[in-house]
Order: sequence, then structure tokens, then C-alpha cells
Amino acid sequence: MVEQEYRIDKVLFSRGEIAERISDLAGRIAADMRGRELLVVGILNGAVFFLTDLVRRMPEDLDVRVDFMSVSSYENATKSSGVVRILRDIGSSIEDRHVLIVEDIIDTGYTLSYLLELLHARKPASLKTCVLLDKSARREVAVHVDYCGFSMPDAFVVGYGLDYAGRWRHLPDIHSVSAVGS
Ligand code: 5GP
Repeated sequence: MVEQEYRIDKVLFSRGEIAERISDLAGRIAADMRGRELLVVGILNGAVFFLTDLVRRMPEDLDVRVDFMSVSSYENATKSSGVVRILRDIGSSIEDRHVLIVEDIIDTGYTLSYLLELLHARKPASLKTCVLLDKSARREVAVHVDYCGFSMPDAFVVGYGLDYAGRWRHLPDIHSVSAVGS
């Protein structure tokens, strides 16, 4: 089978729009978390760009800690099975701590739903979710998103941490991709 080639297409969210939205989110999260210690857990690799911009826009006197998890979906040929494998876990206990999961994009919802169940069992004081992009039309399992950057249509996107086969994470804007020849 010949691999389909893709090219980057139009900008869906510009770097300026992203920066503005992230400042709003950081302000809301900081207001909700004032006086508490906040553990921000980024999901590698896609959420790294978003997380680093988000925490740098939080007030300097907010007690913020940062950690990461790495997960991969067990997939069959055509569709995510909804089972997630932990490749790297959080480095410390989250019991009685205020945890914010930061993810690049929510699509079917399987990844976040699995992570919420897993982390909830570790008895955090609170557990919230923050996603930059939400493809709500594609949801297969219900997941509560506490902080959302942008709702977006059903399109595959790259840039600002999001990749296609490892490429295009470094792009400053978020683009849709299209098949070459279409
Ligand atoms: P879910 O488990 O919600 O279906 O999928 C979440 C994961 O799918 C994201 O963390 C991301 O890795 C991947 N994903 C879903 N949609 C897109 C997309 O449009 N672009 C990229 N680069 N990854 C996506």
C-alpha cells in the first residue's frame, strides 16, 4: 500500500490567538487555585508547548509544580481501542494534592477519560482538566473539561506541539492538514 502524503494547510488558530486565549486560561486557573499548591501534569509530547506557555502566564506567587506523564494508545489498524498504556508516570504521589491535567487536544475522549479514572484512584484533593483544543463532535466517551482553549471542527491539526508522524510540532500556529492531490 502506498502511504498517503499530507501537506500543511491553512492556519486554524494563529500564534496571537493562542497566546491571548492561554492568558485567559492561566488567569482563570490561577484565580481558582489561589492559596493552594497546584500540580500541573502535562501529557507528553503534544502538550509540552501549551503547558510551558500556560504556567509562565500564571502569577509568580502562585505555588505551581510541574510534572509529566507519557501515554500511548493501544491501537488496532483502524480505530483507537480506548485502552491507554502508561509509558512514563508522574514522579511523586498526588494524594491530597490539587492536580490539573494538561492535554493538547481531546478527540474521542478515551485518553483523558482513562487518565482521570487512573489518577482519581490515587485520591488527589482535586482533579481538573485543561485542553487547548476540543473536537467535541468526535466524542465517544463523556469527559468533563474544566478549562478549554478552543472548540474546533472535525479536522486533523498540527503545530504548536501537535504532530503528524512526528512532523510539524514546532510550527508556531495551528494548521489543518490535507492529503496531497486532494
Ligand atoms: P482521544 O483519546 O481524545 O481520542 O485522543 C487524544 C489524542 O489523539 C491526543 O492527545 C492526540 O495525540 C491525538 N489527536 C487527536 N486529534 C488530533 C489532531 O487533530 N492532531 C494531532 N496531531 N493529534 C490528534
